[in-house]
Amino acid sequence: MQKGTISVSTENIFPIIKQFLYSDQEIFLRELVSNATDATSKLKTYAAKGELKGEIGDTTIEILINEEDKTLTIRDKGIGMTEEEVMKYLNQVAFSSAQEFLETYKNESSIIGHFGLGFYSAFMVAEKVEVVTKSYKEGSEGVTWTCTGNTEFILDKNDKSERGTDIILHISEDSVEYLEKARIQGLLDKYCKFLPVEIKFGTKTEYITEGEGDDAEQKEIEVENIINNPNPAWKKKPNELTDEDYKSFYNELYPFSSPPLFWIHLNIDFPFNLTGILYFPKVSNTLEVQKNKIQLYSNQVYVTDDVKEIVPEFLTLLHGVIDSPDIPLNVSRSYLQSDKNVKKITSHITKKVADKLKELFKKEREDFEQKWDDIGVFVKYGIVSDEKFAERAKNFTLLKDVDGGYFTVEEYKEKIKELQTDKHDKQISLYTNAPQDHDSFIQAAKGRGYSVLEMNTVLDNHFMQKLESSGENLTFVRVDSDTVDNLVQKDETSESVLSEKEEESVKTLFTELVTEAGATVSTKAMSPEDQPIVITRPEFMRRMMEMQAMQGMGMGNFPDSYNVVVNTNNPLVADKLLKLEGEEKTNLAKYLIDLAKLNQNMLKGADLTAFINKSLAFVKN
Ligand code: ADP
Repeated sequence: MQKGTISVSTENIFPIIKQFLYSDQEIFLRELVSNATDATSKLKTYAAKGELKGEIGDTTIEILINEEDKTLTIRDKGIGMTEEEVMKYLNQVAFSSAQEFLETYKNESSIIGHFGLGFYSAFMVAEKVEVVTKSYKEGSEGVTWTCTGNTEFILDKNDKSERGTDIILHISEDSVEYLEKARIQGLLDKYCKFLPVEIKFGTKTEYITEGEGDDAEQKEIEVENIINNPNPAWKKKPNELTDEDYKSFYNELYPFSSPPLFWIHLNIDFPFNLTGILYFPKVSNTLEVQKNKIQLYSNQVYVTDDVKEIVPEFLTLLHGVIDSPDIPLNVSRSYLQSDKNVKKITSHITKKVADKLKELFKKEREDFEQKWDDIGVFVKYGIVSDEKFAERAKNFTLLKDVDGGYFTVEEYKEKIKELQTDKHDKQISLYTNAPQDHDSFIQAAKGRGYSVLEMNTVLDNHFMQKLESSGENLTFVRVDSDTVDNLVQKDETSESVLSEKEEESVKTLFTELVTEAGATVSTKAMSPEDQPIVITRPEFMRRMMEMQAMQGMGMGNFPDSYNVVVNTNNPLVADKLLKLEGEEKTNLAKYLIDLAKLNQNMLKGADLTAFINKSLAFVKN
């Protein structure tokens, strides 16, 4: 037996290890299991090179809880260590790298992966650590290294018969949670789910059916609980995988989620290494979109699901995995944002996503259109937030009209060129954000041969502004922003059937009745077929108010602003109203205003009730 002191250049680091990363304490298991995985992978490499005497045998890593002894053991059948190696690796290499790590990151709270604390992270949860190991080298003797969380260690011989290493953690009082099966299972699921060597954690119950038909019997059996898939889909080549494989991998990542729309298999080896699969989710379920996050791995070891420094913001809505040993994981998040390599990774991912969308659009346009309602959210988010993506997305961004037709911007401009170009040569696109509410306006516009777009997602206001400012010569005008004859200004005027005096009297009548602040009244000679009164909301004012509301300033300062336009050529005005006198005249005028308000969803509460009662009275008479 040999006693020794680990050489220290600073004060005792064990108390710091214990306190450090308190919230991320749990990573100790990831560190130890990945060491076990490395030792096993090395063994496999040596065996493949013919450097191993005898059979390689089973190499499953085991995680064992002993509640009585209060120990958690990580057991591997990897290369193990000789006495010299224990001295070198555990007392010198591992210790100094842990020390260096702590010194560098002591004051950093936002390190992305906490990689590199390594073996000594065991002391975050254990008061004593035993390493029982035997090297694969011929004639090696087993050694046990014991350390109780100070700089002294004990090295002793043992009679371990099997090659490999047991790391036995004597869990400290304040960390007993790591003796709970469910806690460990949870951690293994989180950090070790795709490590490249099989990891066993006890057994689990499976249900099988024996016999057939009436004799069929449900049986419970205990099977090995292998917690990981050592061969995850993203490590395979795309041509080895079917659509079903991709979908079932999605299910493995996010059990019980609806199937993804499509996916992109990333496989980059220059100028950096990166593999992964990004999935486009179906956005019908916003909870899933937020809950299922992209996971970042480093050589199949889970790092984090907070990837906003690595993936452009609009793509953080995607699901899936990214695996790259080239992303520096021991740096603060702010450093990561300015790292040149990471920037390259980011722009490469953006490009890949754009390429995939373009390919889908070109090869399977019909399918692309069907998925557009879901895809569109990402694309529009990308367009308004990422200049480069906006440029790439030009050719596959779709506009959808109220009849369910899909057009690229180019196609759409061609479609509306003839009828919807105004006197200043601007192309006017009409849109609605509420097809149900705007029905009469939409019908009126369609009656003129105009096309109306559906723009009813949260991002559409920004998206339209972006298109307006991108030199496409397009102006967006909501379908209720003006009377139909004026939506596309063309200098056309209809002749009024009223005399100037009659027109004046109509205007006075309505001005007296419309008293709301923010409302203006005007008369206009439209087609006799157009509605008698149309309430419009001028585009500019409305957008200003919407912007204010978006910025949380509320609409409070401004009264609702709208125009009440009286169509002097509609027979109800020209013939009927003008012939009436007194109360009858006012009643009809009020009724017509109410109808226009109803059409704009403005008639509410007591006003609506009064209107309904009035209508019932009309029907009775
Ligand atoms: P790292 O894994 O980053 O090298 P660690 O502190 O985790 O740093 O481990 C230090 C060294 O100890 C490893 O490089 C390895 O040589 C040795 N080691 C740790 N765990 C094992 C193990 N289970 N089997 C064999 N060697 C191990």
